[in-house]
Amino acid sequence: MRIWAVANQKGGVGKTTTTLALAGLLADAGKRVLVVDLDPHGSMTSYFGYDPDTLEHSCYDLFQHAGLIPAHLPQQLLRDTSHENIKLLPSSTALAVLERQSPGKDGLGLVISRTLAQLDGEFDFAVIDSPPLLGVLMVNALAASQYLLIPVQTEFLALKGLERMVNTLKMINRSRQQSLPYSIVPTLFDRRTQASISALRMLKKQYPATLWQAYIPIDTRLRDASRAGLVPSRFDKSSRAIVAYRALLKHVLNECLQPKNTAAVA
Ligand code: ADP
Ligand code: MG
Repeated sequence: MRIWAVANQKGGVGKTTTTLALAGLLADAGKRVLVVDLDPHGSMTSYFGYDPDTLEHSCYDLFQHAGLIPAHLPQQLLRDTSHENIKLLPSSTALAVLERQSPGKDGLGLVISRTLAQLDGEFDFAVIDSPPLLGVLMVNALAASQYLLIPVQTEFLALKGLERMVNTLKMINRSRQQSLPYSIVPTLFDRRTQASISALRMLKKQYPATLWQAYIPIDTRLRDASRAGLVPSRFDKSSRAIVAYRALLKHVLNECLQPKNTAAVA
């Protein structure tokens, strides 16, 4: 199973949308895909019609067995989605209490990594959506992954948040055997605004090696997809954002074969 995380310490930058778009495209291609919702807000979980406020079982159960995850637990937690090839490991609001704990305590930082190891063989891909906060949950997402996508909104204020995320990654890389390769993904690009254009220019200058060379445009059809509860690729295959996400998927699959940008974060 290939495991990717989508993370940024800033909210509203397109993390959940990117996770859904990539998972949907992989699933459309016949891959068996697991999406993991590690954000206590549970946007992804809500998207698929489950209520993170009232769900009785969620990723939180896994953290209660951090030391030794019972053999059947990960399987029991899986939920069906609107896409026959996608299963969801849902979030619940209870996850928020974990943010105040230390990832080093009782193996708390490796819960998702261990869970996915138990589900290996059942899925071709896992895509993890993360909370906009550096804590136990984000550490879990990064520790479990082989590749990271960092969506960044193409506006000036978001660039500061990106710097913080890249520094977090450097810190986390120190405790990993291997640096986590990543791509920065410009999102919510509006070619009519100077703000988007100059933010993209700055990104190109500051992150020449790790910036994906295209962008995800603003596309209101993504919002319609979310209202319909369908993965974006099922809503409108010709939407500009979906076309861009298809190119992003190709890029990530390529990068995974030859992870050449690890040096930049080492
Ligand atoms: P995050 O998970 O980082 O908080 P979301 O993926 O939830 O961000 O995106 C924030 C909001 O922006 C959502 O309402 C989402 O539907 C919308 N959105 C995301 N990407 C696009 C896009 N390319 N075009 C238009 N709206 C988008
Ligand atoms: Mg989100």
